[in-house]
Amino acid sequence: MSEIAEQLAELNRQIEACQRCGLGQMRTRAVAGTGPADAQIMFIGEAPGFHEDRKGLPFVGAAGKFLDELLASIELNRDRVFIGNVIKCRPPGNRDPKPEEIAACRPYLDRQIELVRPRIIITLGRFSMARYFPGASISRIHGQPKRAGGVIYFPMFHPAAALHQPRWRPLLEEDIRKVPGLLAELEGVEPDLPDVDENYEQLSLF
Ligand code: URA
Repeated sequence: MSEIAEQLAELNRQIEACQRCGLGQMRTRAVAGTGPADAQIMFIGEAPGFHEDRKGLPFVGAAGKFLDELLASIELNRDRVFIGNVIKCRPPGNRDPKPEEIAACRPYLDRQIELVRPRIIITLGRFSMARYFPGASISRIHGQPKRAGGVIYFPMFHPAAALHQPRWRPLLEEDIRKVPGLLAELEGVEPDLPDVDENYEQLSLF
């Protein structure tokens, strides 16, 4: 295992034991995220749902099946990309995450990004979009990449949205087709990313 993969595994253990917010008491399993430590693409969803909470894996329900189809449409699969969420534990009844839950979980996502150093971050839905495009409206900016510091931030609708609103399905299908071109654009471009923090300590529980 590479050093980064070991650090990710250690982070996963911290997430699985986390009690930084009230959701820690309610979950079956925390969902840290999956994917290779050197993934070039990171997808960030919202929060685990019912099935994810049971399995401890991201996007294993109907929305996940659609995400798999989207990946397959550009000849990718889960072995090649990192898939995580803004918050790692299921909110009861799948309600929206609360600001304090997002804040409590933020250091975990920050650390995942710092370790994986993805070149493209694809936000799925409004909660992960808000991290990089504060105040933006998803219907206006989906499919429009933002380039900053050697990373491309690419907002997309949440795949679950297309299950509720079939007219959004082609928008997701169209947006994902831009990703191979964005990856090609980064070839030969050195990432301008901060180094991994070697002095990272386990997050304080207090
Ligand atoms: N929706 C998300 O945002 N994340 C998951 O892991 C599953 C459903």
